Amino acid sequence: MNVFVTGGTGYIGSHTCVELLEAGHSVVVADNLVNSSAESLRRVERITGRAVEFIECDLRESAAVDAVFASHRFDCVLHFAGLKAVGESVAKPLLYFENNLNSTINLCRAMAEHGVKKIIFSSSATVYSPDNVMPVNEESRTGGCTNPYGWTKFMCEQILRAEAEARGDWSVILLRYFNPVGAHPSGLIGEDPRGIPNNLMPFISQTAAGRRDHLNIFGNDYDTPDGTGIRDYIHVVDLARGHVAAMNYMEKVTGTEVFNLGTGAPCSVLEMVRAFEKATGVKIPFRIAPRRPGDVARVYADPSKSLRLLGWKSELSLEDMCRDTWNWQSKNPDGYGGDL
Ligand code: NAD
Ligand code: UDP
Repeated sequence: MNVFVTGGTGYIGSHTCVELLEAGHSVVVADNLVNSSAESLRRVERITGRAVEFIECDLRESAAVDAVFASHRFDCVLHFAGLKAVGESVAKPLLYFENNLNSTINLCRAMAEHGVKKIIFSSSATVYSPDNVMPVNEESRTGGCTNPYGWTKFMCEQILRAEAEARGDWSVILLRYFNPVGAHPSGLIGEDPRGIPNNLMPFISQTAAGRRDHLNIFGNDYDTPDGTGIRDYIHVVDLARGHVAAMNYMEKVTGTEVFNLGTGAPCSVLEMVRAFEKATGVKIPFRIAPRRPGDVARVYADPSKSLRLLGWKSELSLEDMCRDTWNWQSKNPDGYGGDL
């Protein structure tokens, strides 16, 4: 298939490009590089030995999006593009609503105009209500998001569902990611966060590299076995493969389907620190700090629907996640370089 990948220079998008190319698909990427570097695609080309067309394009500009569709023939869209920093979304809500919603709307409009009927959207476990019993499945309650970023994911899901319903012949897949971590085993592509990382794994790996002097563990008084927060960390290569599985599934169906992409295996902050130390042999100094506002004790997936309908499940272990993160971090101490 000829696949249009929005946000394809970013962390998850670039790993998915590798899996798409290795599965024999062709890839055209559009990104405005607000949170990424086009160097990632040169690395994707090195890994796969295949070319990727890159178009620098801001999806908020509807004429630019239309021009991309007018000059290509796409079979399917993978929509990764979006802003994703929770804290920034609290400080700049309009930026988040404007960017994430308008991008999705412009994309849908261009798809309709040019007869493209299949789209896979990067949603998030953050759309689940914090008061659900764990693990969450695709029927669990959504909404009650605790920040504007989460609401943009919730609203984009609604936009895409309504569009699929109205058109009848569209196929929309909403993939709810849990906590993507890790990097391609080649060490050529990985996560390259700007400034001080918000997420646990990049913070751990930058601490291991000596860029941060210690990790703050946000709370050890949660109602969990060791008191630290529990999440469902999934290797980004497994996550990327989930998109290829979803594309295969889409061949057969119309309407909207939702899938969790997680491992189903709960892991605490302390367990992650220990796993990283074991996999890499590097000690992670840490301090217990106050709870982070908005955090919940535990979030993890029931991924059984993905196995049943997509034939997909995560294959890579916590050790793989830690080893591959460290391989990327140590081979690329400044990420892709440049001004990020
Ligand atoms: P990322 O920031 O690395 O990638 C997103 C890409 O979108 C970036 O390359 C950025 O430059 C691009 N982009 C943003 N706004 C754009 C616009 N208006 N026009 C064109 N390009 C634009 O993030 P990621 O971790 O790869 O996440 C990919 C998707 O998955 C995002 O939609 C994110 O919300 C979602 N998601 C991520 C996580 C996670 O923990 N990484 C979890 C759940 C969902
Ligand atoms: N966390 C932490 N220190 C950090 C970053 C995160 O203790 O520097 C904890 C956080 O409180 C949560 C877990 O690690 O329990 C995962 O946080 P992350 O931000 O990576 O993912 P999210 O909370 O969005 O699921």
